[in-house]
Amino acid sequence: MIVLEDVSVRYKKAEDEAIKSLSTSFRKGEFICVLGKSGAGKSTFIRCVNGLQQPSSGEVVVNDVSLTTLKEEELRKIRRNIGMIFQHYYLIPRLTVMQNVLTGTFGKRKPWKNLMGIFSSEEKEKAIAALKAVELEQFADRRVEALSGGQKQRVGIARALVQDPYIFLGDEPVASLDPSTAIKIFKLLKQIHEEKELVTIINVHDVQLAKRFATRIIALKNGELIFDGAPELLTEEV
Ligand code: ADP
Ligand code: ADP
Repeated sequence: MIVLEDVSVRYKKAEDEAIKSLSTSFRKGEFICVLGKSGAGKSTFIRCVNGLQQPSSGEVVVNDVSLTTLKEEELRKIRRNIGMIFQHYYLIPRLTVMQNVLTGTFGKRKPWKNLMGIFSSEEKEKAIAALKAVELEQFADRRVEALSGGQKQRVGIARALVQDPYIFLGDEPVASLDPSTAIKIFKLLKQIHEEKELVTIINVHDVQLAKRFATRIIALKNGELIFDGAPELLTEEV
């Protein structure tokens, strides 16, 4: 359902390619962790999968649609079904949990309605269902700035969930969290992954976390794929 065909990415003015002739594919049910040191290309790789970064050459195909030729508007439609979570959460601190969860959904809604906290009953129901899934429904009216890091990331997960994604992407979503909170977030991601039958791709620099939760591990080094396989087969240093 996701195919990368000979994908290379070269940033403007960069001497070296951030991703080098990478080919692989992912399907429903796979929980993939992407390993690699800082600068290895993990973030670039993730952004290729949701079309935030267009390859300099090669092709990314999601559900039989090639992202390479799409216009920004068409890409946005595809991205609506790709849940994305980030290291620094990208939440709006002064808004409530509910307002944050409903950011970006239902494409045509006017932004001021979100700022005023005006939502349809359908929107509220969806948000509450997503907040239940991350066990934060009692926090719906709290401001995000008052939450802990782990809670913020759960809001981030709920915001992704209201879009009914079939792909879940994480760019170092636990890198700012302490080890026990990181494990809790991974358990939650794995549970959602299994319930919703997603493809989940998560960047992580902690090899032990990847080995514990992934069904498949990918390792990048200087933009090259140096490992792609079952977690128990990972032996080399990454
Ligand atoms: P990782 O997520 O593994 O840390 P990145 O994908 O962020 O790796 O970066 C891969 C390489 O591309 C690094 O050398 C980084 O400095 C470079 N890079 C990333 N983003 C940009 C950009 N916008 N412009 C130029 N170089 C970039
Ligand atoms: P993080 O480690 O939190 O992902 P980074 O410093 O790697 O943060 O990257 C932050 C942003 O800067 C990203 O959008 C990335 O694409 C961009 N970036 C990273 N490296 C470079 C670079 N060498 N030149 C320009 N932009 C870069």
